[in-house]
Amino acid sequence: MNQYDVIVIGGGVTGTAVARELSKFELKAALLEAKSDVGAASTKGNGGVTHSGYDAKAGTLKAKVNVRGTAMIPKLAKELNFKYINRGTTTLGFTEEDKIILKKLYENGLSNGVPKLKLIGRDEILKIDERVNKDVVMGLRAPTAGVVDPFELAIAFAENAAENGVPTFRNQEVKSIKKEDDVFIVKTQDKTYITKYIVNAAGVYGSEIANMVGIMDYVVKGRLGEILLVDKAIGFELNSVFFPTPGKDTKGVATIPTPDGNILIGSTARMVEDKEDLSVTREGIMDLLKGAKLLVPDIDEKYLIRQFAGLRPVAIDRNNDFVIEASKEVKGFVNVIGIQSPGIGAAPGIAEYVIDILSNEGLPLEEKKDFNPYRITIEDFSEVDDDVKEKLIKEDPLYGNIICRCEYVTEAEIVRAIHRPVGATTVDGVKRRVRAGMGRCQGGFCQPKVVSIIARELNISPEEVLLENINSNIIFGNLKNGR
Ligand SMILES: Cc1cc2nc3c(=O)[nH]c(=O)nc-3n(C[C@H](O)[C@H](O)[C@H](O)COP(=O)(O)OP(=O)(O)OC[C@H]3O[C@@H](n4cnc5c(N)ncnc54)[C@H](O)[C@@H]3O)c2cc1C
Repeated sequence: MNQYDVIVIGGGVTGTAVARELSKFELKAALLEAKSDVGAASTKGNGGVTHSGYDAKAGTLKAKVNVRGTAMIPKLAKELNFKYINRGTTTLGFTEEDKIILKKLYENGLSNGVPKLKLIGRDEILKIDERVNKDVVMGLRAPTAGVVDPFELAIAFAENAAENGVPTFRNQEVKSIKKEDDVFIVKTQDKTYITKYIVNAAGVYGSEIANMVGIMDYVVKGRLGEILLVDKAIGFELNSVFFPTPGKDTKGVATIPTPDGNILIGSTARMVEDKEDLSVTREGIMDLLKGAKLLVPDIDEKYLIRQFAGLRPVAIDRNNDFVIEASKEVKGFVNVIGIQSPGIGAAPGIAEYVIDILSNEGLPLEEKKDFNPYRITIEDFSEVDDDVKEKLIKEDPLYGNIICRCEYVTEAEIVRAIHRPVGATTVDGVKRRVRAGMGRCQGGFCQPKVVSIIARELNISPEEVLLENINSNIIFGNLKNGR
């Protein structure tokens, strides 16, 4: 039997951040994730902005963990070696009405304790980036905001947690939970785990997980958002994330510079009933383009290379706030519900908050003396100087074999991505770790090669290699041999 002090359910940015926080203590803990990889649900389909926290309603839990989490991100980026760019956000106003809203947001941000927040005029905005629509009249500048690659963040948390003794078990979909005496019996499709505490970080499925132990307090629904990816070939980067003055439910369509030099346009917002609905509509794409051009008119649709969607987990009838609490009826069960935006920057703040709750619930927390906060990443071959390239190829000739031509990714980097603590096991897992397939051709050239490398390194047949989740096999038999 697998006996634990704490089991975290759900390996999105929330669950992985909690797992990493737990790994600082002398505990037996583990993370269970239903999918083939961490960060593969809401955490993969988002803009990656670490929001400063000016817009969460003052006094809410969301405001508190957002400001705290975003303040922790720069240090974490150094420790965990994930890509982070700190260009701030600039929320743009074009009308007198926008100016009133921006001033209110500014006041709200001050109440939330957002540092360095500033209202700025047209000239200052155009100094930040001359590509901004010249009709702008006012901006709310939030320099503490930044952008990460959200699945890299989740991978970084999970890897560091694993290196400090808190493993992630993937392809472990929790099917039932029973409380027996002082412990929970957690069953997945093929395994049983026994644990004293549970942290429910299952995103849009948070209500279903809570229901398994009879907690009926939450209704979680998905608010779908669509995003467009602009190719680097557009020839410019943005010097800030640009938002329009927000509407009632969302922050509106933003233009976001990614840490890898692309631009994201996102996102739309509509409530959906189906928790697996990730459809992108023509209407959504048109709205995104219109929204992006309002902010940065030079955005040109001919450079769009991909569109995708994600679901924000929304707790219904909870005033759009995050709900993070221990169950009063079921001792030892902590729910982290409705982590809609801004879950990315907030994640480290949420994790700290969860640890406090667990401690209040009686979990003994003795700090690990040998906790290692640092994570060593895979050398990015495309970024290093020629003499380093030469040295790397001498050490490992696989560095001399470029697999992804668009993003200049070598075979050595792919092999290393597979053999890390929470290593890639799928084509998308490789893509998210080293960017093979992330460029202009979107894997058209390198995918078959990536499939062969995964098959070889994991000692499975190419037919068994998955794109991402169960049943997403890419190869079905061998025509040449008549099979
Ligand atoms: C279009 C869009 C844009 C966004 N932009 C931003 C942004 O720029 N900045 C920002 O801060 N936020 C943004 N967000 C919000 C952000 O994506 C979420 O706040 C965050 O990803 C929530 O993470 P999570 O870990 O709580 O949920 P998830 O990432 O959904 O993780 C939950 C995990 O639980 C797993 N799970 C579910 N059921 C089970 C089960 N039975 N057993 C085991 N595992 C299970 C799932 O597979 C999943 O991996 C955006 C969201 C969308 C949709």
